[in-house]
Amino acid sequence: MVNENIPHKNAYQFNAIGRVHSCYQEKFGIPRQPGLVPEARASIEILSPYDRDEAFRGLESVSHIWLVFVFHQAMREQWRPTVRPPRLGGNQRIGVFATRSNFRPNPIGLSLVTLETVERRENGLWLDVRGADLLQGTPIIDIKPYLPYADSVEGADAGIANTPPESMPVAFSEMAQRQLLALDACVYPGAEGLIRDSLSYDPRPAYRKDEEAIRIYGCRFYDLNIRWQVVDGSIEVVSVERD
Ligand code: SAH
Repeated sequence: MVNENIPHKNAYQFNAIGRVHSCYQEKFGIPRQPGLVPEARASIEILSPYDRDEAFRGLESVSHIWLVFVFHQAMREQWRPTVRPPRLGGNQRIGVFATRSNFRPNPIGLSLVTLETVERRENGLWLDVRGADLLQGTPIIDIKPYLPYADSVEGADAGIANTPPESMPVAFSEMAQRQLLALDACVYPGAEGLIRDSLSYDPRPAYRKDEEAIRIYGCRFYDLNIRWQVVDGSIEVVSVERD
């Protein structure tokens, strides 16, 4: 029998099964979808009581996973029915349910990432992923294997987002190059690709893109402060400094 009386207010409660440790320490600079930056690494710390090996048995043979998570830094008291996606230049509104905006009635995110390892370590059970678009500390509420036969659709129409976002050339100043070379590759794996690809999608808010004045922006990847600017339609990384 169909239950007509579907509860809709505060009816569900979920526990985080994991917590994200991400190369992205703040929202600014995170790609707007997963998979755009292959060097965007994140580790998911599985939380008790879900940190049981048998709960993940078989997952090691899977190459990609869906992460269902909470946009814990995009919570608002009031939801808005429309949003201004960066795709439309940030000045046109469309329905929130027609977008992947992080501001939604239920702040739930969905990302497809590459699964690198599932590993029991001294400090718990960890999943390492790549291609993440996740902020440090993001609570994970579910993990599911990606099923190509069901989850990929040839010829699908994504409306305003049929192609990847435009990207810009990225160059490193001499100082930034020297600073990059001095970094320990074990601590900052793929740092150059991470910075290049993340910035190439131009994290600037749409309303700033028309500004004439050159302005220095800052992003935090790991404990690195990345300073960059836009000059003549390309991005220049000015410096890569550790804390
Ligand atoms: N792939 C996801 C996310 C799309 S929105 C989905 O479709 O549901 C992408 C933006 O969410 C990123 O640019 C980042 O700035 C933001 N974001 C990532 N983790 C977040 C978090 N925990 N809280 C709030 N915003 C977050």
